[in-house]
Amino acid sequence: MIRIKSIRAEYVDAIPVTITDGVLYVSTAYGTAVHKCCCGCGQEVVTPLGPTDWSVTVDGGAVSVYPSIGNWNFPCRSHYWINCGQIRWAEQWSDAQIRYGRQQDRIAKQRQYGEGQAGTGFWAWLWRSITGK
Ligand SMILES: [Zn+2]
Repeated sequence: MIRIKSIRAEYVDAIPVTITDGVLYVSTAYGTAVHKCCCGCGQEVVTPLGPTDWSVTVDGGAVSVYPSIGNWNFPCRSHYWINCGQIRWAEQWSDAQIRYGRQQDRIAKQRQYGEGQAGTGFWAWLWRSITGK
């Protein structure tokens, strides 16, 4: 497998059927970016964009993605940063680290969107006292 060293952003209305290596397709309409795993395994990496997901910035034509891309669900388990159009490889995570990362992600999403079970804060109390739930 040939590792991809650099990537460029392409803004699209909809994600194309054929994904080319070394291109990050960004659809602001769908709030999603898609690229092929930079390890060269050919898996397509879908990164939702949003306050608790990924953010894509293009500076002087060079794309950066924050935070890092961790492909824990792929056999390659590759982990890398897209920084100023360059791929910077990061260490692979252990199972415990992946579990911890997913947990942190869930907590961040619950804070942001109030997903999951009812909260225990003031607003949850207020909501329950209004709705009687
Ligand atoms: Zn890969």
